[in-house]
Amino acid sequence: MSEQTFEVIVIGSGIGGMCAAALLARQGYRVLVVESLPRLGGRCSTLVYRGFRCPTGAIGIEIGGVIQDVFRAVGSELDVRPAGPPHYIIDGKICHVPEKGGFRSLISAATDDRAEVERVLGAISEALRSTESLRPLTLKEWISQHTSNESVFGIFHAMVSATMAATLDEVSAHEYFVYLKKLKGFRDWGFCPQGSIALPEALARVVLSWGGQVWTRSLATRILSENGVAQGVVIEKDGEEIRVPSSVVISNCGPKKTAQMAGPDNMGAAYMRAMERTLRPAALLIIQIASDVPLLETSYLLVTKSRRINTVIQPTTVCPELAPPGKHLILAGGGPPTSTGPMNWQEEITFCMEDLRDLFPGFSENTEVLLTGVFHGDLPGMHSLPGRDMPWETPITNLYNVGDGVKESGLVCLPAAANSGLLVAKDVQTRLAARG
Ligand SMILES: Cc1cc2nc3c(=O)[nH]c(=O)nc-3n(C[C@H](O)[C@H](O)[C@H](O)COP(=O)(O)OP(=O)(O)OC[C@H]3O[C@@H](n4cnc5c(N)ncnc54)[C@H](O)[C@@H]3O)c2cc1C
Repeated sequence: MSEQTFEVIVIGSGIGGMCAAALLARQGYRVLVVESLPRLGGRCSTLVYRGFRCPTGAIGIEIGGVIQDVFRAVGSELDVRPAGPPHYIIDGKICHVPEKGGFRSLISAATDDRAEVERVLGAISEALRSTESLRPLTLKEWISQHTSNESVFGIFHAMVSATMAATLDEVSAHEYFVYLKKLKGFRDWGFCPQGSIALPEALARVVLSWGGQVWTRSLATRILSENGVAQGVVIEKDGEEIRVPSSVVISNCGPKKTAQMAGPDNMGAAYMRAMERTLRPAALLIIQIASDVPLLETSYLLVTKSRRINTVIQPTTVCPELAPPGKHLILAGGGPPTSTGPMNWQEEITFCMEDLRDLFPGFSENTEVLLTGVFHGDLPGMHSLPGRDMPWETPITNLYNVGDGVKESGLVCLPAAANSGLLVAKDVQTRLAARG
């Protein structure tokens, strides 16, 4: 076993890991990022396939939020082009969402009953004012208190399924309304013209320029600890096993895998039990499509009352660079009926395809499926459903988790993972500074 030393080792180059790594490198700490794959970014990366820049996960990047804060703090540019406003399809009709009064226009499209519109809108305002009182209710239970209109349920389902990878009975009303309060709206999202891999690659350049290292094709196999304090990581690289000592270890592999690498006995029985009780991987489906013609007028469509499809995203509307000239890249996202139960994934994809043929006349003639993806279990859409997260601290001193299994309430997806990296980097700085 050969030896090298770093102050901080980050296991995994997902957005959570890269945000933490870049922030700490920028603060002058000697940082090593280890990534098992040949490519950076995890579920925020890009595969070039037949000339299309296909995402490995995230395509929509939040603008003006925590990701931008991290980029600013490390002195890097975030090249994201605004996606423009979303549209909904409600009972077969396209509904434009205005900048103000979005809920009013959506609920009005779902029902002609004026009293019902006012009742639901009043309930939404009240819920946004007093999120605490909603804790015992699932979102489905909350909606049922105010309407039985299937189209209204459909609107909420499309939002929750597309953004939280959850069904209405898998997310609490509290978590949903805290999220809505923090959300600035889909208008503040966009796409990277070079693909989502531009984000981790930009952060990796920061790590390198501040004296850190980034090792791809390097698998972390063990997290070392002694007397309850992290000591470093064992890494398989170029067929060799390397023991790399460090003061701090930050894992971006999800809390479960972190515990396996650190050893369940070292994490303690109470932590292992809490993790078993808490974490619920969130499942999602994705179909990546090449099209000769645009399927959408804009770039974002939320779909209600379908079998499975909840979103159709056409990033080439604003970023034609993502496809060969004259072609469009379309991402159709779907939600299975449950994130947690057993299911037949082939059947799920079949339902998605049926939805797409119903939504777009001529779909079969103009399009070709490039890739299909099913994210669940150990490779989930999110490491846990919103509101079912572990803390980023672990029972081992100086061992942290970052990523979408340790989300702060009200944040999901990339912003949640980036935020965990930001919080962990702050804590590490404080601890290392106190140690002198
Ligand atoms: C299909 C899909 C679509 C999505 N769309 C969006 C979207 O449009 N917008 C949005 O904001 N979010 C979206 N998300 C969610 C978003 O992609 C994730 O929340 C986010 O990327 C998770 O980042 P993370 O920090 O948890 O790291 P991850 O992406 O999970 O990365 C972890 C990294 O660790 C590496 N690793 C694991 N184990 C080891 C080991 N032992 N040694 C070395 N390396 C290791 C992995 O290879 C991986 O690269 C989507 C997710 C999916 C699946």
